[in-house]
Amino acid sequence: MAPNEILNYTIEGIKWLAIGGASTYVGLLISCPVSMLFAEKIKEQKRLDVLVKKESDKLGLKGVKGILCDEYLGGGAYHENGNPIVELGGIGANRSTLRHELYHHFTGDSKHSMKNKWLKEARYMLIVEPRAWLYQSTGIKV
Ligand SMILES: [Zn+2]
Repeated sequence: MAPNEILNYTIEGIKWLAIGGASTYVGLLISCPVSMLFAEKIKEQKRLDVLVKKESDKLGLKGVKGILCDEYLGGGAYHENGNPIVELGGIGANRSTLRHELYHHFTGDSKHSMKNKWLKEARYMLIVEPRAWLYQSTGIKV
């Protein structure tokens, strides 16, 4: 095989890899709101406590506290005094978003920090969020 042919095959492979990657990314991006539409809505703190326990057990997480907020419109995963917290509210108060935020604790992304702002953003958009979207929508852990 001539070097020119190898180069052409390599370029073709990279092109299809990029198309596949972009398609997967867009597919995951679309699957999240769809999974949220059909997910159980969480309207009471007691129900959130039950679901946090159930969903945490699936990931082997312990001691996660769920907070249901009226003023917060989404979901968040963070630590308070070393304890994992999931906060949900508004359109984010559903089981799908709960799974998404718990997955951030499972992967350790809720604790991860990088000094370089651009690397942090790139990691967030290309790794952290897509794998949480995947788990949120399908239950697949990567
Ligand atoms: Zn997220």
